[in-house]
Amino acid sequence: MTHDPHQQAQELIACRGDGLTEPQQTWLQAHLASCDSCRDYAEAADQLVRALRSVPITADPALVRTTQLRARLHAHKLQQQQERMWLVWISCAVVTLSTALTTPLLWRGFAWLGEWSRVSTPVWQVGFVIFWIVPALAASVLFAARGTYLGSRNGTPQG
Ligand SMILES: [Zn+2]
Repeated sequence: MTHDPHQQAQELIACRGDGLTEPQQTWLQAHLASCDSCRDYAEAADQLVRALRSVPITADPALVRTTQLRARLHAHKLQQQQERMWLVWISCAVVTLSTALTTPLLWRGFAWLGEWSRVSTPVWQVGFVIFWIVPALAASVLFAARGTYLGSRNGTPQG
């Protein structure tokens, strides 16, 4: 044999699974008993083989796929919920802000209209209330419809 003995030992370790002849096994045992680095190599090779053998049991491809899909769906659902919460918060902020900004203007506008058309104060005040309430009603109906739409879309994960 022209091989370096350590190289020879490592080749035999790699071929152990295919079966070694008696003299090869005897020689390898003797070498491993006297050589630390080759013994480490043999142990590492054993661990690698064990790890590779345990992979199909612990990580069945179908199971991995199902788990990944489930995790992705869960993350997607959480993200959608957060987006929906943002939508609700933004809607609330916009409605509050626009109401706060437009109500005094609208009140002044109706007061001016009432004065201009010479109707009594209760008349333009009632007009103001109707004008103010109708868009709010329309907006709440719209938001409710939109909420139902979002709810039905998110309610079915397979869809
Ligand atoms: Zn060696």
